[in-house]
Amino acid sequence: MSAAGLDVTAPKKKCQDARCPFHGKIKVRGRLLSGKAVSTAGKSFTVVEMEYLHMVPKFNRGERRRSRVSAHVPPCMAVKDGDEVTIGECRPLSKTISFVVVESRRPA
Ligand SMILES: [Zn+2]
Repeated sequence: MSAAGLDVTAPKKKCQDARCPFHGKIKVRGRLLSGKAVSTAGKSFTVVEMEYLHMVPKFNRGERRRSRVSAHVPPCMAVKDGDEVTIGECRPLSKTISFVVVESRRPA
């Protein structure tokens, strides 16, 4: 199912948030990342952590690295700690936030 021009499932709830890619005016363009929500203590944002493998040629091995990105959570989406989320790049919403959550899944 496609929503907001993305290959994601639209949330069932509706919201009035202008910073919502489904019901507001925010346009998602650029990168689409997926990771784990590690902190949902913020009022309208979540911290998403992504893990990736960085190869070290000298030892011919990989090392696990992680990076964190803050993303806006529109009110129509319920994101809890540990959720698998997909975030899309949008215009900068604040000093550190230029991503918005476009999909959230509860891991089985
Ligand atoms: Zn919404």
